[in-house]
Amino acid sequence: MTPPFSEPQKRNLFGPSLQLGTVSGIPIRIHWSFSLLLLWALFLHSSATGSFAGTMLGMLFVLMVFGCVILHELGHSLTAQRFGIQTRSITLSPLGGLAALEKSPKDWKEELWITAAGPAVNAVIAGLLLPFVLLTASAETFAAVPFSSFSNFLAMLFFANVMLVLFNLLPAFPMDGGRLLRAFLTPSLGRLRSTRVASRIGQVIAVLLGLTGLYFSPFLAFIGVFVFLAAAAERRSVELEERLSGTTVSDAMRRSFESVGEMDTINDALRCSLYCGQSSIPVLRDERLLGIVDFDTLVRARAEGYGEAAVGSLVSTMAPLTVTPQQSLLSALREMQQRNREIVPVIWDNRLIGLLPQRSIHSVLAMQAA
Ligand SMILES: [Zn+2]
Repeated sequence: MTPPFSEPQKRNLFGPSLQLGTVSGIPIRIHWSFSLLLLWALFLHSSATGSFAGTMLGMLFVLMVFGCVILHELGHSLTAQRFGIQTRSITLSPLGGLAALEKSPKDWKEELWITAAGPAVNAVIAGLLLPFVLLTASAETFAAVPFSSFSNFLAMLFFANVMLVLFNLLPAFPMDGGRLLRAFLTPSLGRLRSTRVASRIGQVIAVLLGLTGLYFSPFLAFIGVFVFLAAAAERRSVELEERLSGTTVSDAMRRSFESVGEMDTINDALRCSLYCGQSSIPVLRDERLLGIVDFDTLVRARAEGYGEAAVGSLVSTMAPLTVTPQQSLLSALREMQQRNREIVPVIWDNRLIGLLPQRSIHSVLAMQAA
């Protein structure tokens, strides 16, 4: 129910959300679709109990369970903070919580602690509730209409937390159980092979969850699909990390390139781009990089009648994304994907020394695979 980590570049994938507050600098957000879940729960509880008080208790229960899910995610996030890994946000959706960690822990022991901390929170909550459940439980506790008594309410909350522990411990990578499996396998198999094993097992379980979900619950089917895709994405991401490890921007950058001065015309820049087959042209001011203009922008400006205007006028006032030659190729690629850039300038000692197109990174990858 609570896939713990998401890839940094996917943080906006899920659309708008409302911020509830922050804990230890981590924004806690609630996804818009959560309101649909609350409406659905309202309908379900009001038709099941038929009373206002019963409905309110049912809603309180739903909110408390999701409160426990937030605490679960905080377990992951605050443990990650201890290892110097920040969390961008925790988002609550009908499918569960999602703590978007800045990066995945590389060390298997760190991954073990960070992952185990989530289910451990729910185990502690269940452990704290257990004496009260035992003290208040009677024969009617479990036979009664849900939430109709205090003891029933406590017992349901206890079971919800037990379920959160058990469900998250399914070895369905990238859910907690699958991450724990990978962490356990890493010392003997290495990170890449253990990720492959964990994600294959995760995909088998995802298919089983999906099939079970088709008969019992659409939520389960959703989670099955999500786990299946997330396992493949995580495997690809680790494969990419492994293949690019040890490579730097200087291994992939193009050292010969054309540039124009800011006072050159848009037509000049367009000609330069056409003749040298370069899709983006750096624009310089006194040998310093001012920005980078792509072919489509130049064509559009010319079509609008600005062919003889200075190309500097097309450069955005925002500082362009740049990389350094010593920077790891993986971090450069991640930044380019996040900011949706096909090509970035390489800067050293305040001077433009090359260009890094995504195509070149893929060529390096192809050479590594060969
Ligand atoms: Zn978790």
